[in-house]
Amino acid sequence: MADLVAGTGELYGQQPSARFFFDAEPQELRWVLRTTDDAINVTVYKFPDVAVSPDLPDSHGTVIWQSTYPRPAFAHAVLKAAHTVLTEHGEAGYRAKWVMHPYPSGLVQDLRRLHMRDDVCDLPHDLPCP
Ligand SMILES: [Zn+2]
Repeated sequence: MADLVAGTGELYGQQPSARFFFDAEPQELRWVLRTTDDAINVTVYKFPDVAVSPDLPDSHGTVIWQSTYPRPAFAHAVLKAAHTVLTEHGEAGYRAKWVMHPYPSGLVQDLRRLHMRDDVCDLPHDLPCP
């Protein structure tokens, strides 16, 4: 969750892309977010062996999912997902479930601020700040 929120936030700066991976032992699931104008292209690559694959280029992986979204809609969906997780588990529950990883309140607030500042989004923003 934190990686997805942070990765999305990075795309509001000078960064043309952000990447992070989920350790799905023995596989690696690598998420690559790329910005093109006001759209975000999301590609998920699968690598068979997470022990070696973080060093491999994307082209060595298998594309298992790819989609493009307008940035406002994508950021909004990420914020909404983060909010849902928080509502469901609470900060303490989140920390218990994802041992060692506190709920990324700061990252969520940053992304929310960027989204409100830079995106034209007609969806309701009644999500309470964490
Ligand atoms: Zn929005």
